[in-house]
Amino acid sequence: MARCIFCGIAAHEKPAAIIHEDEHCVVFRDINPQAPVHLLVIPRKHIASLNDDLDGDRELLGHMLSVVGRAAKSQGIDGTGYRTVINTNAEAGQSVFHLHIHVLGGRRMGWPPG
Ligand code: 5GP
Ligand code: ZN
Repeated sequence: MARCIFCGIAAHEKPAAIIHEDEHCVVFRDINPQAPVHLLVIPRKHIASLNDDLDGDRELLGHMLSVVGRAAKSQGIDGTGYRTVINTNAEAGQSVFHLHIHVLGGRRMGWPPG
């Protein structure tokens, strides 16, 4: 089974500022934050990207989205707003190949994204 840096965080082998974890996913602060609040929501299971065959993971993916909203509330950015981002492959800027949802908030976001 593939393992990576985020698998290490999920297994508590590598330190991270974890703000939520459950049976299926982990939420922690990005080490290089791009906004006052910058969280990463990851599945415990190693999934490289949205390009994987995810038909068998629908429940997990839905669960991750439900966790996004709760995490945003816990950080007090649900009212002002937040941006969720999933980068896939090189041109989108994916650098860690373990699926993650960025949750960015605490400042005004521009559109279109760069
Ligand atoms: P990507 O570029 O793949 O969309 O996002 C990867 C994110 O993971 C980046 O924002 C980067 O700062 C963050 N990151 C990379 N390595 C680590 C780490 O070891 N710990 C934490 N907390 N974040 C990391
Ligand atoms: Zn992994």
